[in-house]
Order: sequence, then C-alpha cells, then structure tokens
Amino acid sequence: MIRSYAATAKKSILTPFEFTLPPLTDVDVVIAVKYCALCHSDIHLIDGDWGIAKYPLVPGHEIIGQIVQIGNKVAGFSEGQWVGVGWQSGSCGQCAPCTHGMEHLCVTGKKRTCVNGFGGLSEKVVIDSRFVYAIPDGFELISAAPLMCAGLTVFSPLERLLLSDVQRVGVIGIGGLGHLAVQMAKAMGAEVYAFDSVSEKAKSAEVLGAIPLHDPKSAPPMNLILSTSSAQLDWNFWMERLDFNGVFCLVGYPPGDVAVANDHLLDGQKSITGSVIGSPATMRHMLQFCLRHSIRPHIETMPFSRVNEALDRVRAGKVNFRMVLENDWK
Ligand SMILES: [Zn+2]
Ligand SMILES: [Zn+2]
Repeated sequence: MIRSYAATAKKSILTPFEFTLPPLTDVDVVIAVKYCALCHSDIHLIDGDWGIAKYPLVPGHEIIGQIVQIGNKVAGFSEGQWVGVGWQSGSCGQCAPCTHGMEHLCVTGKKRTCVNGFGGLSEKVVIDSRFVYAIPDGFELISAAPLMCAGLTVFSPLERLLLSDVQRVGVIGIGGLGHLAVQMAKAMGAEVYAFDSVSEKAKSAEVLGAIPLHDPKSAPPMNLILSTSSAQLDWNFWMERLDFNGVFCLVGYPPGDVAVANDHLLDGQKSITGSVIGSPATMRHMLQFCLRHSIRPHIETMPFSRVNEALDRVRAGKVNFRMVLENDWK
C-alpha cells in the first residue's frame, strides 16, 4: 500500500490515507516522491472551489522524485533518474491543440495530476511519461519543485508574449508565481515593474531585479502586464497602464468577467489574453532557461508530516514565496 495525505471531504484537514497504485500502462512511470510543493490550486481542490475534486483527494502537483519503475514503451527515461511532474498528467494526443504541440490546451482528454489520480503528497505516483520531465544536471532538486506549476505558468506567457528584449513588463502580485515571473522577465531582458498591494512584497521584488511600485500610477507605459493576482481588478485602470499595442495577460483567476472600455482595444490596439500552465515542450525549455540564468524560487521547507501546518501558512499568505514539503516517511 502507498501512504499519502488526503482530504476526505470538502475543506477537511489532510489525514493519512493508504491506496493501491493503479496498474502501470506501457507509457507510464512510477515515481518515488521526494519533494512536493504547495500551490494555491491544491487549496482550491481541497476546498472544492472548482467542483472538479473527488474525495479522498491527495493534493500536490509540483512533484520531484526518482523513477523506480518504467512501462514497456517508455522512451528517454531510466530507473533512478530524477524527474518532475506538474499540474497536467495527460492529454488526448489527437485534438488540434495536442497535434500542434499545445497539449495544455487539449480539448477532449486533459488529465490533471491530483484530480484524475492521487497527487504528490504520497510515497509514489504513476504518471504518463509524456508529462514527466527530466531535471537537468546541476539543478537543485528541491528548487525544481515550484517550477513544475508556478514556474511553467508564468514562463509560458512570457515566452509567447514578450516580443523583444527592450520591452517593459509589469507583474501584478508578487507571490509564488510573481517572484518567478520577475526573475524570468528580467533574464529575458525586459525592464520589470512589480506591483503588489502589500508594499513589502513589491519591495522584495527589488532584490529579484524589479522596480517596485506601490503606486502603479507612476509606472511608465507597459508593453506587457502579467497578473498573477486572484483579487478583483480595476480593468480600465490596468488597461491605461499599457502602452499602445500592449497586452494584458491573466494567469491568476479573479472573480467575475473582464470588462474594459472599447477605446483601449480600438484606439490603443491593446489586447487581453490569458494563459494556463504550458505545454510539455515549454516545460523543458523553462527548466533549461532557469538553469542557464540561475533562476530559482525562494522557498520554505517542512516535512510531509506537517502538511496541515504548511497549508495554514499558505492560506494565510505567510509563506516566503513557495512552500516545499519533503517526504519524511521512514
Ligand atoms: Zn488533446
Ligand atoms: Zn499549481
């Protein structure tokens, strides 16, 4: 039996839970989990916010571990190899996005690590090897964990939307995602501005290379604004912060719908888009990019056995950017 920590009902605390691993298919690998970071999506799943969670639910989708078993048709992985797993654990492979290398947009068979199976707060996970990523040599394993979801989520839109290295990028919300976005945009050559309603958080982005702005009104026109915030946003205020042709991209999920004055879209030729995780190819690119530019998440660590305390810290917004849990089962 595999030991894990699970929520047994909506909003419950996590309690020890044992399960049998699903059978290994030809394309799967079994990973012995070493680290699993906590993401806000785990809390949304535990709390049943999105209506997609099934209980018992084993959260965790920023997983780092070692391959201990390999399916018959798995290519490119070996036993003992250190790998990572993120939010997505499968796709149909046949729809238009899948056949265009955009598996994260799969329309008919998207699988999520801790929704369609048991997640990373367990001893072992079984994952389709097409959604398993080799951790490059020289990368500290513990630092790779938050890149699996938070890192990919901000790298993917920066890679797609940052069109030149002389652009100005604004990052709204300097937390687990935002502090990585600042480092990545900076490494891509952009001038980066950090906005956070908590001034210490905006200030902390200064050491990461951003210009902290508690009052965004003083910002010069931005070419790209990336919002990692899930708070209510004043859409027109932020559209006014964009330069002509500027793009506002949502990666956080604020309440309600987007509504902006038509003039921003017409006269300023500005646009609004969104982004959710990223493709397997982007994940591999992101890991190499972070290795080359020495981009690392700022983390706190706790053992798996203190997961409820760790979740409380995440809920309270007290974590120093990202909480990574370490497997402490004997
Ligand atoms: Zn598909
Ligand atoms: Zn996540």
